[in-house]
Amino acid sequence: METQPTKQRISTRIGNVAESATLAIDARAKALKARGVDVVGFGAGEPDFPTPQRIAEVAAKACLDPINHRYTPTAGLPELRQAIASKTKRDSGLEVSASQVLVTNGGKHAIFNTFATLVGEGDEVLIPSPYWTTYPEAVKLAGGVPVEVPTTLENGFKVQVSDLNKYLTPRTKLFVHVSPSNPTGAVYNLAETEELARWLMDNDLWVMSDEIYEHLVYDDNKAWSLPVIEPRLSDKSVIVNGVAKTYAMTGWRVGWMIAPEDVIGAATNLQSQSTSNVSNVAQRAAIEALEGPLEDVARMKIAFTRRRALIHKLLNDIPGVTCPKPEGAFYAYAKLEGLLKRDYGGVVPTTTSELAEVILDQARVAIVPGEAFGTPGYARFSYAMGEDDISKGIGRIADLVANSTSV
Ligand code: PMP
Repeated sequence: METQPTKQRISTRIGNVAESATLAIDARAKALKARGVDVVGFGAGEPDFPTPQRIAEVAAKACLDPINHRYTPTAGLPELRQAIASKTKRDSGLEVSASQVLVTNGGKHAIFNTFATLVGEGDEVLIPSPYWTTYPEAVKLAGGVPVEVPTTLENGFKVQVSDLNKYLTPRTKLFVHVSPSNPTGAVYNLAETEELARWLMDNDLWVMSDEIYEHLVYDDNKAWSLPVIEPRLSDKSVIVNGVAKTYAMTGWRVGWMIAPEDVIGAATNLQSQSTSNVSNVAQRAAIEALEGPLEDVARMKIAFTRRRALIHKLLNDIPGVTCPKPEGAFYAYAKLEGLLKRDYGGVVPTTTSELAEVILDQARVAIVPGEAFGTPGYARFSYAMGEDDISKGIGRIADLVANSTSV
């Protein structure tokens, strides 16, 4: 009898997906906390505030109404799609119709749908690094090729058109833009956004614009939307957004993509065969969030502004650490190369991944090493926590460094 070739248990495509490093670090820190260890976690990418009460109350009521116990249309409740179109006009100035909106299970799902819908086998996607860890993995899942375009701390981690030109090939299909950025907190100003818009037009590329941090901008920074700056880009733009960061609603899983109608039609077909609609009750909560005032995010912003100043100062006070001032979101991205190759209680880390282990093991502080964002030598600190915890956590790292010795 012929022997059958052994079939691999896990498909190559899924076997090649890396675990989300940010979620992994956060899970480790939460597990230590659950065991009673006093860990300060700078890993989480979520606001520490509760969802505003008015939103939770609408959801609680919605649970009791049988109308919400059923499926909604795949693309979302018509009222929510309209609320998203209206909110987009209000906040970024982009005019879209409800038929250009697909409601998804969070912004992450909108990103997955976008790449799955637009990126064909071997198509190249330009992703400035440091990048949010999901982008390259979601491109690979679609069969595309993520192409990292490095930025520098000196340029405020903003991609330059001259760099983009170096990575452009006949296979380049799409460019990923996120401002404010996760993990760097960088925000592109008007002139920089205009330059990018011109370059995209000149090269006839698609753009996915991730606008999830649009309201979290500090000082006189502003989040510009590319198709608003250059309306001719509209036909090849996908906007990704969601309620997670603006309304402290990470757990509710409501996001959306906005795109030309043919793209939304194709993405809706995909969603109809995968996840169907987003939870009905969560959609009702999202309508309340979007139709209500922006006063809660304004309050969060005041707290984040103070925390940003504190963490920026404390990090730069540590010898060997350089941290540019974040302009948006709630992340500080610091260069930690000066802390490597030192002796920490007998351990000498040579990479920031190893350093993050030392900091978690010895100082009980969780940070996400730059390896997770394509840039070893750095680490991301989320400052979505109280000022006391920021002082305690960075203070612990400062003590650890002060007690280390050079080798
Ligand atoms: N884009 C960026 C840049 C993010 O940081 C996040 C959350 N960490 C998301 C999208 C997705 O958020 P969610 O899926 O929770 O809506």
